[in-house]
Amino acid sequence: MRFKSLSDLKRQQYREVSLATLPQNIAITYYARARAFKINELVHTIHEDSLEWYGYTLAKIDKPELIVDIGLPKNDQNLLDYTTIGPKRIADFQESLPEDTIINGWIHSHGTLNYRHFSSTDEANHLTVLDFVNARLRKPVAKKEIAIQDLVLLVQDQFAEKDLEKGSVALITDEPVSEAMLMETVYGSFCYSIVIGDEGWHEQEIHYKEIGILTGQTTVSSQKVDIVLIDTGKSLTKSDISALSDEVEVKIRPNTNPPPEMVERM
Ligand SMILES: [Zn+2]
Repeated sequence: MRFKSLSDLKRQQYREVSLATLPQNIAITYYARARAFKINELVHTIHEDSLEWYGYTLAKIDKPELIVDIGLPKNDQNLLDYTTIGPKRIADFQESLPEDTIINGWIHSHGTLNYRHFSSTDEANHLTVLDFVNARLRKPVAKKEIAIQDLVLLVQDQFAEKDLEKGSVALITDEPVSEAMLMETVYGSFCYSIVIGDEGWHEQEIHYKEIGILTGQTTVSSQKVDIVLIDTGKSLTKSDISALSDEVEVKIRPNTNPPPEMVERM
């Protein structure tokens, strides 16, 4: 294909410059992974039953893409598909964390169930967590040309109010210019989602959100990704397990009195 001139070529697409990339796989420390599966084990031991629980994946604020720990909130519903996470719950949990620690996603267990994928309730939870973490994890990922149909260029103190009736956007400069391009910053954020089972299986996705600061243009997407294990030298010690055991006992309780609609849906 031949173009008549360079300006024709330019019009084919709007300019976009990438500034940073969002994670394309989930980096997690051996310690954090061990903790997740240990919770499954402890639930089994303590409650003599497999329960579905959820927690948050945690990172240090200076390395938000690496999961270094699993945070366990109080689980008051331990049934598959009934664990609905609200923004208030996430905010409360974030507040209980040390200042240098942030939530970068969520993890939950399907216990002994051989349901190895995300449910529709899980899908809703992804978006709730993504919305919450967005404010803390967002970073400039691109500068993108704003498509302006009918840009009007005006010179300061040299136009009449009538000139403002023309065009869709008016750019007023102190010196005359003949051409201008507007580029906005696109902020991107991500949220990890991991589901695990007692048998040691796991499935995971990353959810992404990108917002143009000026146009407000929002893109939400997700992809299935791989886990990348990172060795930080830290391992789950006996005292870690003992503390985790106490936590599981207090925070994860079998739901012995589920509301009627839950029983119906089981
Ligand atoms: Zn689920």
